[in-house]
Amino acid sequence: MSSKLLYLDNNATTQVDPAVVAAMMPWLSEQYGNPSSAYRLGKAAARAVAHAREQVAALIGADPSEILFTSCGTESINAAIHSASSHSLDHTHVITSTVEHSATLKLTEQMAKRGFEITRLGVDSQGHLDLAKLDKAVRTDSAIVSLLWANNETGVLFPVQKIAELCHAKRVPFHVDAVQAVGKIPVNVAELGVSMLSLSGHKLHAPKGVGALFISKRLKFNPLLRGSQESTRRGGTENVASIVAMGQAAEIAREHIAEEQTRVRRFRDEFEQALLARVPGTEVNGDPIERLPNTSNLSFEGIESEGALILLDERGMCCSAGSACTSGSVHPSHVLKGMGMSNERARASLRFSFGRLNRAEEIPKAIDAVVNVVTKLRSLNPAGPVIASTRG
Ligand code: PLP
Repeated sequence: MSSKLLYLDNNATTQVDPAVVAAMMPWLSEQYGNPSSAYRLGKAAARAVAHAREQVAALIGADPSEILFTSCGTESINAAIHSASSHSLDHTHVITSTVEHSATLKLTEQMAKRGFEITRLGVDSQGHLDLAKLDKAVRTDSAIVSLLWANNETGVLFPVQKIAELCHAKRVPFHVDAVQAVGKIPVNVAELGVSMLSLSGHKLHAPKGVGALFISKRLKFNPLLRGSQESTRRGGTENVASIVAMGQAAEIAREHIAEEQTRVRRFRDEFEQALLARVPGTEVNGDPIERLPNTSNLSFEGIESEGALILLDERGMCCSAGSACTSGSVHPSHVLKGMGMSNERARASLRFSFGRLNRAEEIPKAIDAVVNVVTKLRSLNPAGPVIASTRG
């Protein structure tokens, strides 16, 4: 099945790289030691974790001592915000945006119930933040600014360097959710000067269930999970095999970073341009320039994305919808709504995300599948042909 699958959902998760599977296998079988054990079996595991820490650090320009392994991107985000907001009772203000991942949204919603004041900065129709508004929002009681680097739905990039400078000048810690950015665009925390940065293994061709948090040496860290491991910064026996996998995936990602800008970007652009040309009423959601090289979020007037997903799945293609069906009703994406989009357009949107394991011959097939499905859905929707002719 996987050889025929048109997998264009690499922002949801990625296929584990076979070289990553090979690297982690010994740590799931004969190398089962606990890294805290004093004998050779344990010491080998500790060395493997240390090597993975170096590999992850190298990918983002950090010192290995600044890398904390976690169970996922969500845990990294929770740990970062928890740490910054638990140092002092005088810092009860948190700044974030309306288009964050649910990890940040849900955590800050809960913090608001516990008495924190949350400022959620909005974005414009292209998905951009207003830095002047951010500047105004920072206060003396601000505990942290936590923002995405690359939006998971649209791929739109926030100006992390400028935000880091602003936060540095105002002496407020800045956490970046770089789960979608790492591996797709160059990341160098030393140059950026961010305080904390979250990443996740499964977006990088490592397995699910492993992540990392960069914590600047200059920052005091207050752990979310208390215990003795990870230099007391995260309790819990290390997930050695997955950490090894994440290290290997980070090393491979570092070698392939240029490919994301060339080959993967070419796939995305060829796909997007063909659809814009062949399907009337197609629009790009978010800034078409300032975005990840692999992501294309498109709206197709007159369709419902949930229906499109089912028909595309029947044709062997995986992508994501600009809406989610919960308890029988369809909710348009908060990211697209946050950009001021109508419910109709958000519900007519699909996200396609490419990766380095895609192949050139898949792109024309994927284009044909989308053309075919949109045409079919419009023929079932009485508004479809009108849209096609008026917007053509
Ligand atoms: N942040 C962003 C931008 C994401 O896209 C995701 C996952 O989709 C996460 C955080 C959460 O990462 P994880 O699935 O590893 O918990």
